[in-house]
Amino acid sequence: MTNKNIINLYSKKETKENAIEFNKFFSGLEHQAKKQAFSEKKCFICGREARFCNSHSLPRFVLKHIAQSGMVANSMCMAENTILAAETGINNTGTFHLICADCDSREFADYENPDNYNDKPTQIMLSQIAQKSYLKEIYKQTKNIELHNLVYQIYNSKIGNLQELAFLDKADYIKQYLYAKNTKEPYFLVYYKCLPYTVPMASQTRVALISGFNGEIINNVYDLNPNALLEDLHICVFPMKAKSIIMMFVRNGQKRLRPFYRDFLKMPEDQQLQVLTYIILSYSEEVFFSKPLIGQISDLSKLGHICGQTSMFNGYKDDAKARLRELAQEYNLSNAKNIPNLLSTVYSVKND
Ligand SMILES: [Zn+2]
Repeated sequence: MTNKNIINLYSKKETKENAIEFNKFFSGLEHQAKKQAFSEKKCFICGREARFCNSHSLPRFVLKHIAQSGMVANSMCMAENTILAAETGINNTGTFHLICADCDSREFADYENPDNYNDKPTQIMLSQIAQKSYLKEIYKQTKNIELHNLVYQIYNSKIGNLQELAFLDKADYIKQYLYAKNTKEPYFLVYYKCLPYTVPMASQTRVALISGFNGEIINNVYDLNPNALLEDLHICVFPMKAKSIIMMFVRNGQKRLRPFYRDFLKMPEDQQLQVLTYIILSYSEEVFFSKPLIGQISDLSKLGHICGQTSMFNGYKDDAKARLRELAQEYNLSNAKNIPNLLSTVYSVKND
């Protein structure tokens, strides 16, 4: 559950003025939720009491290659009537506050070193990427649990079962984080490409695919059984100097994603990149763009609609089966053919 989802659910947004007013109110609420959720300043990794550092879930050296005057755009730049900031400085982009500076510099050193991308990533790097992605999710859900508490106190009513979902999600992410940290050969690298140009978007994300290329269901996101772990797909799009690293990996031993990536691997490269663009935009908010790219896209509202898909996926229990079938169509990966391939050389960033 993302800020955008929460805003869409709680806000009536009849007019732009209402939306701006609500956004101000929501920012205050979010600030309060953060304060309450992290009043005990204990590093999630080492358990010591310490100042949380400004951790990047997408390395700063990656963001740097798409930044213009230190700024990058986020998916809000594609939304109509946006009420959230559509661009941020790279120091505040994709960041979270859950661990201490010692742990942040020690635990992720391999994957956050640009010199380690001359070849395929090691298991240690994949493990570090996954750990960082899950820490970001744990941070978000910890904050969201408090946010739902505050909303409940103010409105005296709950919307769907969002808080229950936030608790379940957080528990899942902790399990996944521990798996990444404590398993010797945790991941299988499904896809690796080193493109000879700098792509205009950057992402480090984990997604639970709802459906594949024929609309078949992969993950039942409405299954609230705490033992039903979703099968995550990890995706990295790392623009660098005159090249870009594109990777996908999954947990070793996972089976539900196999038909998806077997189909994917058979596709020509341009189609693969288009599918990756679609998955990242439709499932994740952990994606950032170079600002000039936004001016280059002719049908921005279509992409805005794709980005809006994440908000359709909310926490209502009723009619879960019918809703899942609907979602499977909305997220059908064959929809990828209708959007521009933002990872193609046409949109590449010129940097020296
Ligand atoms: Zn620590």
